[in-house]
Amino acid sequence: SALYGIDAWGAGYYSINERGEVQVQVDQGENVVPVSLLDIVQGMRARHLDMPAVLRIRNVLDHRIAALNESFARAIAAGGYRNVYRGVFPIKVNQQCHVIEEIADYGRRYHHGFEAGSKAELIIALSQLRDTESLVVCNGYKDAEFIDLGLYARRMGYPVFFVLESLHELRVIIERSQALGIAPLIGVRMRSAVKVDGHWSQDSGDRSIFGLSTTALLQVAEELRAAGMLDCLQMLHCHLGSQVPNIRNVRSGVLEACQFYAGLVEAGAPMGYLDLGGGLAVDYEGASTNTTHSMNYQLDEYCVNIVETVQETLDPLAIAHPVLVSESGRATVAYSSMLLFNVLDVRDCMPGTIPATAPEGSTEFIAHLLEVLERVDADSYQECYNDALFYRDETRELFHRGQASLRDRALAEDICLAVMQRINRLLPQLERVPAELESLSEQLSDIYYGNFSLFQSLPDIWAIDQLFPIMPIHRLGEEPQREGILADLTCDCDGRIDKFTLPAGLSSTLPMHALNAGEDYYLGVFLVGAYQETLGDLHNLFGDTNVVNVSINPDGSYDFVREFHGDSIADVLSYVEYEPKHMQEQFRRVAEGAVRSGCISVEERQRILQAFRDSLQGYTYFEHH
Ligand code: PLP
Repeated sequence: SALYGIDAWGAGYYSINERGEVQVQVDQGENVVPVSLLDIVQGMRARHLDMPAVLRIRNVLDHRIAALNESFARAIAAGGYRNVYRGVFPIKVNQQCHVIEEIADYGRRYHHGFEAGSKAELIIALSQLRDTESLVVCNGYKDAEFIDLGLYARRMGYPVFFVLESLHELRVIIERSQALGIAPLIGVRMRSAVKVDGHWSQDSGDRSIFGLSTTALLQVAEELRAAGMLDCLQMLHCHLGSQVPNIRNVRSGVLEACQFYAGLVEAGAPMGYLDLGGGLAVDYEGASTNTTHSMNYQLDEYCVNIVETVQETLDPLAIAHPVLVSESGRATVAYSSMLLFNVLDVRDCMPGTIPATAPEGSTEFIAHLLEVLERVDADSYQECYNDALFYRDETRELFHRGQASLRDRALAEDICLAVMQRINRLLPQLERVPAELESLSEQLSDIYYGNFSLFQSLPDIWAIDQLFPIMPIHRLGEEPQREGILADLTCDCDGRIDKFTLPAGLSSTLPMHALNAGEDYYLGVFLVGAYQETLGDLHNLFGDTNVVNVSINPDGSYDFVREFHGDSIADVLSYVEYEPKHMQEQFRRVAEGAVRSGCISVEERQRILQAFRDSLQGYTYFEHH
């Protein structure tokens, strides 16, 4: 099914099998048997891990780390670059313990380290120290406690860099390192003047809130020299913004960073490390274009561009090649996670039964509407559209004044809907669709109610209009007969998805299958491993979903390596300061009052209290019983 563009955005990890199910595969040689996601979902359900759930594929994460490191290694070897690449994973992109541990364990073979942006993240990074060649890069504002922790790790031989955000911070670092007698490793974050395309363009440019001005950079060198610590200044840090879709921006950013690097060498700093931050994009649309949710380059091209630009800029200045560092978060973790959920219900926009003639005693507008319905054709559709809305609204007006019945109103709405459906079917034959009718198919599309919370699991869709590939994970051998938008479980009008990336372009509806009675219909939202898991919130008190980490074997079998049950209702209530035990006691008093007043028996009281206790322990999402 080319309908959903899986071959373009799936990056070789996701495809469709002959049973019409999405399958996952990590390139491990010739005889690899892909695994159907539907099989995994069934395995989850058998283990009482209900939908919605985040499914993480461990091998995909490993493969991404390998791809990044090996691609840099190839570019370095091919270009004759005389130093190495050392990646660091920015913890903020996915702080979940098992993701971080996997990156530390698997990444060790490449000396892949971590980037920390806060004290809590530094503590995570320090707890994962494995070898003295993996870097820890500390960004963000740092207090004395933060700095002491980093200095202690340095004393134990680990390469922990403090990247300066301000001159004030430099003074604290100088003071703490002199007090503890530990020499720090210092980096400076430059403010790039390169304006990049995409959503995060404000991370760079003169008004970026990050980084030191050019004057402040020189002052850092001066103050370090005055403190006798200029030898500590070893890294230049530059971050253009996340999801940089245009390779030309990457090249310009690296070029500018190299000039700063050279300037600091000239100022007498030893340097040695060039950290180019994040920005390596993910092609969420599979469109290979320079648009916000896509990218116009491949991983290999990204690495070659960086390596070449550094060489071309520093070689003429006879400056030694630095260790190349990058902080790729999105491109490392996005592919390995997906959100899976079932559809609970569908509301279609089909009218009820429409009589051939107006029922006795109905308002005159019903007869007019029936006449309009008869008349719809390619010549009169615009007039019919106007008339149908007019007669429907007139009927509603009569209803407000008590001069039309509820039955009249229902019939008027149904006939109007039938007119709209007929017009909608005519639209594809028209040479030009009037602007007014452009969104008709969206207005008439189905609403699929999904068992998930957009705010908890896909916050970027709500916050920044992020696009993720979304599709059914089964029944893909069948032509989908319906078009719909998705609504989540929250009672919020923002809890909907009505922008979908499909091979033909952006669409306001997603092709979906009609629900089969007694059968679950599962959808997957893909490439959600970056940023979504901890940015999510408790809107309507929907908590963390179940999470399953799966490792797939070449023979098509798979292991549930970790499983985590999502928040119970008691968990989420305690996050907003309720005390579940106290709530039980309050509700017990309510039930006891009802016994006293003769409303319920003592036995009923017991059943009701048991239901209350069971609910507290239950999943916050819709549960199958
Ligand atoms: N490094 C820094 C300093 C960042 O601010 C970010 C995120 O914006 C990243 C790395 C990660 O970027 P990305 O996810 O695009 O790789």
